[in-house]
Amino acid sequence: MNKTAQNILKRVFGYHHFRGQQETIIENLIQGQDALVIMPTGGGKSLCYQIPALALEGVGIVISPLIALMQDQVDTLKQLGVRAAFLNSTQAPSETQDIQTALLNNQLDLLYIAPERLTIPSTLHFLKKLKIALFAIDEAHCVSQWGHDFRADYLSLSILYEHFPTTPRIALTATADERTRREIQEHLHLMHAPVYLNSFDRPNICYRIVQKNISKKMSERHQLLAFIREHHRGDAGIVYCLSRKKVESVATWLTEKKIEALPYHAGLSNEVRKENQQKFLMQDGVIIVATIAFGMGIDKPNVRFVAHLDLPKSIESYYQETGRAGRDGLPSNAWMAYGLNDIVILKRWIALSDADETYKNLENFKLNAMLALCEQVHCRRQTLLGYFGEIVADDCKNCDCCLEPAKVWDGTIAAQKALSCIYRTNQRFSTSHLIDVLLGIPSERIRQFNHDKQSTFGIGQELDKTQWHAIFRQLIARGFITVNFENFNALELTPACRPVLRGEKTVLFKDTLRPAQSTPKQAPSPKNTVTELKNRFWQALLTQRQTVAQTQKVPLHTIFQDVTLIAMLEKKPLTLSDMGQLSGIGEHKLYQYGEGFLRIIQAFTLLEKNELSSSDITIELFKRGFDTSTISTFRQLQATTIFTHLAEGIIKSNVALHDIIPISIDEIDVIKNVIMQLPNEQKNALKPVYEHFNEKYSYDILRCVRATIISR
Ligand code: ADP
Ligand code: ZN
Repeated sequence: MNKTAQNILKRVFGYHHFRGQQETIIENLIQGQDALVIMPTGGGKSLCYQIPALALEGVGIVISPLIALMQDQVDTLKQLGVRAAFLNSTQAPSETQDIQTALLNNQLDLLYIAPERLTIPSTLHFLKKLKIALFAIDEAHCVSQWGHDFRADYLSLSILYEHFPTTPRIALTATADERTRREIQEHLHLMHAPVYLNSFDRPNICYRIVQKNISKKMSERHQLLAFIREHHRGDAGIVYCLSRKKVESVATWLTEKKIEALPYHAGLSNEVRKENQQKFLMQDGVIIVATIAFGMGIDKPNVRFVAHLDLPKSIESYYQETGRAGRDGLPSNAWMAYGLNDIVILKRWIALSDADETYKNLENFKLNAMLALCEQVHCRRQTLLGYFGEIVADDCKNCDCCLEPAKVWDGTIAAQKALSCIYRTNQRFSTSHLIDVLLGIPSERIRQFNHDKQSTFGIGQELDKTQWHAIFRQLIARGFITVNFENFNALELTPACRPVLRGEKTVLFKDTLRPAQSTPKQAPSPKNTVTELKNRFWQALLTQRQTVAQTQKVPLHTIFQDVTLIAMLEKKPLTLSDMGQLSGIGEHKLYQYGEGFLRIIQAFTLLEKNELSSSDITIELFKRGFDTSTISTFRQLQATTIFTHLAEGIIKSNVALHDIIPISIDEIDVIKNVIMQLPNEQKNALKPVYEHFNEKYSYDILRCVRATIISR
C-alpha cells in the first residue's frame, strides 16, 4: 500500500478506505503510468487523479468540458484545504493573471481547464514552464463522435502526448461501451495504458417502473405526487419530462401541492436556470423538474430520487439519468411511470426524423431495448447491467420485479383477439378505435366503417379499457405490432405475430391488474426511522450546514455530505478528535467547521440526559452560547417557557440578566422601580407592570427583570 496515498486519503478527504480499484489506479499513476478509468457515476473517479496530483510534485491539470462543473469541483477542493483553481472564459484578465502567477510560484495543486483553452499554443507554451504532476481528462467520452456529448475540442487533446510525453495521463468516463472506449484509446493516445473497468452496478439505487394510469383524475402526476409524498418528503430529487411545456406545468402543479419544485429547461433564461440550479445545490430538499438539459455537471451527491414522467429514448440515457441519484451511496430510488403513449411518441419521432435509415434502425433498436426493460418481469438490474455487457447471476433484490414479483398470466387468447382485430379492420386504425371494437362500443366511426358487423366486435369484454391498453403496449414492446405514423398511428401486424395467431406461441403478460402500488426502499434518512428528538437533532445539523454554506457561498455538499451528518447523528462525537474519525471529515474541515457542529452534538447529548430538570437544560444551553430562539427550536418549547427557565436561572444566579435581554441598565432600573412599588397584594403580578409601560416590554422581559429582584 502506498503510504502517501493512504495518508492523503485520510488527512485531506477524511476517508478510511479506498473504493474498488481506486488504490491500484492511484498507485500506478504515482509510478508514472497512464490510465483509462471506466467507472459509473458516483463510483469515485475524482480521487483517482486528485490524490496522485497531491502526492506528486507539481500541479495536476484537469481537463473538464463543463464550466459549471469546474466551479463546483474547485469549491469542493478548497473546502478540503486543497489549493485549486480553474481557468475559463468567464474570468476577468486580472483573475487569470493571478492564477498564472500562483502556478509559476508552485502554489496550486490542481488546475481545471476547458479543452479549447488548453490546446491553444499560448497555453501550451505557458504550461511548459511548469512542473506538471499529471493530466486528467475528465468526461473522456466527449472524444467520441458517436456519443451525444461529442466535443470537437477533445479531439485535439491528442497533442498532450506529443508535448508532454513523460507526464502521466489519466482519462476518465462513465460511458462503458466498447466503441467509445476504443475511440478514447485512439484519440487520446492511450493504446498502451491499462484499462480499469469497474462494475457499473449502482447497488444503492432501487429501480421501479410503473404503468401510467390512464384516468385523468389519477394521472401520472398524481402517481408522482403520491410517490414523493410517501417516500421522499423533504428530499432533493430530479423529475425528467420530455417537453419544456410539461416541465413547466409539472413544476407549477407540484408547487401548488406544497412540494418545492423548480423548472429547468433550455427555453428558460440563463439567469432563471442558474438561480434554480443554485437553489437545488444550496438548499435542502429542492426538486428540479427538467428536460434532459439538466444533469451533466450537477454533482449533488444527495439526490435521493430521479423520476421519469416520460420514457427515455435508450437504456444509456435511462441509466445516465437515473445514475444522478444517490452518488453518496445512500439508498435512493429511480422511479418511472410509462404508458402506451410514450411508445407512440418516441417511435413517431424516430420515424419522422430526417435521419438516414441506418441511424433510424439504431435508434429503434435502442428504444426497443428500453421498452423491453419496461415490460419485463424478471430482475431489472440484470437487464440493465447486461446491456452494458456485465453478467449478473443473482437477482438483485432491489428492484420492483425482485421486491414484488409480478404475476404473469397466459394472455395468448387476448393477444389473438387484439391481433385479429387489427387484421380484420385492415390494419388502418389506432389503438383507441381498436379497443372500442374489442369492447363493442358503438361509436359513430365504428358504424361508419361497419366495424360493428365484424366478428371481432365486442369479443373483448372480459377486460376493460386500461387492460387492453396495457396489452397493446406489451404487444408493441415485443415487436408483434408496429405503429404506422404516416397513417395516423394505425397499428399494423409484423411477421413475428404469425405464430401467435396460429396458436403456436404462448404469450405471457404481466398481470395488468396488479395494482401499481410501490413501496420503494427508504433512504435510512433519520427523519423516517428515529424518534422525534433525533429528528430535531438532524434538523439542527442541517441548519448548521445551511448556515455555514451560506456564509461561504458554496453548495451544501461541499461543507459536509449527508453521509457525514448521519455519522455525527449516530456516533455523537463529543470531542474534536473523535469527530475527526468520522468518514468525510479531513483535517481542514475539522479545523474549519468542527467546533460549530460539535456544539450542536453536545447540546443534543445534553437534551437526552434524564437527570437534569427542564429548566437546568435550558440554562445549560444558554450558558453554552445558544440564543433563546435556537433553544426554543432545539427543545420544541415555547419562547415563553424558555424565558421562564432563564428567569429561574437568574434567581439561582446561574445566568446574568444583561446576557438575556437587550435593554439598557437605565431601562432595567426603571422597570425594577415600578415592580418594587407594586402594592403587596400584587407583588407577583406582571400585568400591572405590563400595562404601566403601555405594553412596551414583553412579559418575558418583565419576568426576567423581576427575577433579579427575587435573586437579591
Ligand atoms: P464520480 O466522479 O465517479 O461520479 P465522485 O468522484 O464524485 O464520483 O465520487 C462520488 C462520491 O463518493 C463523492 O461523494 C466522494 O466524496 C465519495 N467517495 C469517493 N471515494 C471515496 C472513498 N474512498 N471513501 C468514501 N467516499 C468516497
Ligand atoms: Zn432485481
